[in-house]
Amino acid sequence: MPTPVLGYAAQSPQSELAPFRFERRDPRADDVAIQILYCGVCHSDIHSARNDWGGAMYPLVPGHEIIGRVLSVGPGVTRFKPGDAVGVGCMVDSCQHCEACEQGLEQYCGEMATYTYNALDRHDGTPTYGGYSERIVASEKFVLRIPEGMDLAGAAPLLCAGITTYSPLRHWKVGKQSRVAVVGLGGLGHMALKLAKAMGARAALFSRTPGKEQDARRLGAEQMAAVKGCFDLIIDTVPTRHDINPYLPTLAQGGTLVLVGYLGPLEPALNSVPLIGGRKAVAGSLIGGIAETQEMLDFCGQHGITSDIEAIKIQDINAAYARMLKSDVKYRFVIDMASLKA
Ligand SMILES: [Zn+2]
Ligand SMILES: [Zn+2]
Repeated sequence: MPTPVLGYAAQSPQSELAPFRFERRDPRADDVAIQILYCGVCHSDIHSARNDWGGAMYPLVPGHEIIGRVLSVGPGVTRFKPGDAVGVGCMVDSCQHCEACEQGLEQYCGEMATYTYNALDRHDGTPTYGGYSERIVASEKFVLRIPEGMDLAGAAPLLCAGITTYSPLRHWKVGKQSRVAVVGLGGLGHMALKLAKAMGARAALFSRTPGKEQDARRLGAEQMAAVKGCFDLIIDTVPTRHDINPYLPTLAQGGTLVLVGYLGPLEPALNSVPLIGGRKAVAGSLIGGIAETQEMLDFCGQHGITSDIEAIKIQDINAAYARMLKSDVKYRFVIDMASLKA
């Protein structure tokens, strides 16, 4: 018997999020049923609810920074038991047999990963609904273990903001003595600073908001003069169209600027002169695979890292979206799902 659950959904690109009743499937053999305790609020939730990227399927229940406790497991589940603290991030399934999936890079699945919301289940074709809800059911392979003792509300944003910045830091081999710069101090940017610092790198912030320097220092950023040829890696977290050309001369020879926040054409056009003149690269990176997400959670557990959050009630979600669009949050809203019952 499917379980009726309450969530919050957008019914159209213009509508505010409002209560919505739907069903979660009975756990399949490899499924974990999870009581959701917290869900982070990501910029993608706003873009999806408002159909900024096209392809929105309504009703749309956003939320892909999900933390909860296991309620029950299917008979084939071996890694989880009722009561375990677990997380679900941006993906709930993938083909499991393409080259990317075989390398643990489910986010680059050749048949496209099944996203946690606004997607169709690979087995029964039903819509996926995200974490702004009481419960979720997901395959064991896509469920993450939360390290013992980690603050559960602060852990939620790790599932998207955390892995989205951890993955490029690892891919470009950031370590001691690396010089990293972060563009934009929001949910992603503040995680990038904390993670880069914990990896032993020197980290700096590019921000156009003057008041943010002090906060950046608290998060581990150094006051490095953004001189020519300084940074090995720049993580650009800005989620809107912006000019990246001013950052390119600050890359060291062979350095890379990686875009993690913005999807779409850049404006003004990319100038290749600083790239060719120093074998520099502009790259992109999408979240991270499931194994890497677990590695990131364990790394955060070892280093005492969680997200800086502002907890909200689900009833305040529309006001939270309005504040996020003005960058008025330090640094991630997290919905306390206990409010859904209130
Ligand atoms: Zn996200
Ligand atoms: Zn695949």
